[in-house]
Amino acid sequence: MKKIFNFIIVVMMAAALIIALGCGNLADKSKNADGSKATTTQAKTNESVTIKMLNIGQGDSILIKTAHQVILIDTGDVDMRDKLVELLKKENVHQIDKLIITHPHADHLGGAYAVLKDFDVKQVYDNGQTTSNATYRTYMKLITSKKIPYKQLLDCENIDFGSGVSFRVFSPTADEIKAGGDLNSNSIVGKLVYDKFSMLFTGDCEADREKVILAKYGNQLKSTILKSPHHGSKTSSNREYLKAIASEAVLISCGVNNDYKHPHDVTMNKYNDLKMKIYRTDKDGSITIETDGNTYKIRKENT
Ligand SMILES: [Zn+2]
Repeated sequence: MKKIFNFIIVVMMAAALIIALGCGNLADKSKNADGSKATTTQAKTNESVTIKMLNIGQGDSILIKTAHQVILIDTGDVDMRDKLVELLKKENVHQIDKLIITHPHADHLGGAYAVLKDFDVKQVYDNGQTTSNATYRTYMKLITSKKIPYKQLLDCENIDFGSGVSFRVFSPTADEIKAGGDLNSNSIVGKLVYDKFSMLFTGDCEADREKVILAKYGNQLKSTILKSPHHGSKTSSNREYLKAIASEAVLISCGVNNDYKHPHDVTMNKYNDLKMKIYRTDKDGSITIETDGNTYKIRKENT
């Protein structure tokens, strides 16, 4: 009996240790979002990868092109649907291999209907949190009627963007989604890695959840570039989190003279204090990062 008791204690301690360590090392313990084991693909440094923060007003939409895949993270707001479609067509996008919706607020999900309708979307990911608004319902209806593969994307998962580019998810967890709660904080937060280059995507994740992510992942968050959380709001971008990310530049997507006054001064001051180069769509237009996995260039389009 005592032996069984000791065995149970050991099993419980091991389980607690696994939980405390999160997913562990980035390199070898992640699993792919399709459930298969993650493979470590070697980056080919001559292949160019572009990441374009599209100028779609107050909202987020980021287009990523690797040599073999087109990925779209968020789709801007409902009133910018036509502009989003126009911008994607201008970028010669026909097929979208992966559409990722960070959270179901209108300024991220609003253009999804047009994207799903007008482009050949091969796979949709979101955090699995449902809402009752019409934008969400039409998005889900279209995914079902067009039989587009759909998957919930959570902490510890790793998606392959092709050409040696991976996307590793840090948040949210299944329990956080089950608990419901704040849509912003449940945003998908993940890190794109291409050899020596990396970029942290944050949706509208708020400071309370940033603290949880920081405690769990610490310096694994370190990224060359940061997508400013929540359009530069003062309710995100806590200083310790920014220090761990330690990025050289930050990209903010926000509308000209937006109602929320994003980005907030207090956040801009933090970015300046940490000597991050700041790019923002309301002033710079669409912003393009081009990288070969070693070096990178950032270009403003001013439109
Ligand atoms: Zn937003």
